Amino acid sequence: MVETIYTGPVFEMARQQFQATADYLDIPTDARDRLLYPKRAFSVAIPVHMDDGRTEVFHGYRVQHHLSLGPTKGGTRFAPDLEIGEVAALAVWMSWKCALAGLPYGGAKGGVACDPYRLSQRELEAVSRRYMQEMIPFVGPQIDVMAPDMGTNAQVMAWFMDTYSMYRGQTVTEIVTGKPVECGGTLGRMESTGRGVAHLAARAMERINVPLRGATVAIQGFGNVGSITAKALHEFGAKIVAVSDHTACYADPRGLDVPGLLEHLARHGVLAGFSNELAADPDALLATKCDILVPAARERVIDADMARRLRCRVLAEGANGPTTPDGDAVLEQRRDEIFVIPDILCNSGGVIVSYFEWVQDLQQFFWTEPDVLHKLYDLMSRAFEKVVHRAARDKVSHRTAAMATGVEKVRDAKALRGLFP
Ligand code: GLU
Repeated sequence: MVETIYTGPVFEMARQQFQATADYLDIPTDARDRLLYPKRAFSVAIPVHMDDGRTEVFHGYRVQHHLSLGPTKGGTRFAPDLEIGEVAALAVWMSWKCALAGLPYGGAKGGVACDPYRLSQRELEAVSRRYMQEMIPFVGPQIDVMAPDMGTNAQVMAWFMDTYSMYRGQTVTEIVTGKPVECGGTLGRMESTGRGVAHLAARAMERINVPLRGATVAIQGFGNVGSITAKALHEFGAKIVAVSDHTACYADPRGLDVPGLLEHLARHGVLAGFSNELAADPDALLATKCDILVPAARERVIDADMARRLRCRVLAEGANGPTTPDGDAVLEQRRDEIFVIPDILCNSGGVIVSYFEWVQDLQQFFWTEPDVLHKLYDLMSRAFEKVVHRAARDKVSHRTAAMATGVEKVRDAKALRGLFP
């Protein structure tokens, strides 16, 4: 095995998934390392004046996985326990995700080890601006294009864009995506990941012949992805019976008041304080009996044990990497009971609309929201059909079929371009 700085359970998981896919695709061993290991990684120290007068140094990262199809693309995560192995795994998954959707990008991911919820607004702005400033030598609209991920949002993207633009001496909107619409963002980007999850969950329900109207849904995570998925599935007539975030968990078999939850979230930023009577055990959420289960929080929440306890019919992976390879092995045996929509397919709505935003910024020609949504659903539906068809044809899991479609596109591009020099 290669000596590498990319260690830890999340990278190990991305590696195992890749090896299983490479076995299925019959990729020779010597081509595997070239496909798996990131091309470049940057680690920066981010000194920030804190409100109490101290100077604190935060650690920031950016990993660019491969450069074979165009610029790299991916989100920026602000989380206290962030480490480079996790960032690299997320970058690798972005590559397969972009290739599966047919976007002209390699994968990237970055972030800062910090707790954004404990920073003041001024400190958050300072961390964001300094992070982008440290990254200036390594990013660019044709090199690497950032976006939001856990712990960041449109405001942080606006600060990134402004910092880069100040350095260039001109407004460069196409340096990041997921910006507010007021400064070069696209209509529909904010809701795109959740809407895409709901769209594919609806297609999966169609496949297994269960009506969506009145279907029950449980959602872990109520940030951007979880909350918009709840909203969209509620609009489709489904009943959201359980939701949780890092502050609270609520359940009601009759269906939770989704508009009420969204209003509470808009006012308080978290679920805590919504209700006393409906409080439920967060550890029981994933095992809720429901038609659609949406993990939309962290990685590795569905291991083998949890996979055995799942009581859903559709597993719609809104988060990146929620299911471990051991969990996958169990889901493989339960293939006839549980329809899995793997993460790189299920949550690809975000990066797909990011791509639309980048294209619009480059052309300075902006689309209507129905246009954005129409193109989004079209791309996602095509990728969905491809994955389901391939899995059935080759008797492999939806995850392997999705990964294989992404991996082989990158493999083929690398083979055709050759090795330089
Ligand atoms: N962070 C999101 C993801 O994991 C979006 C990335 C992007 O829009 O570039 O897919």
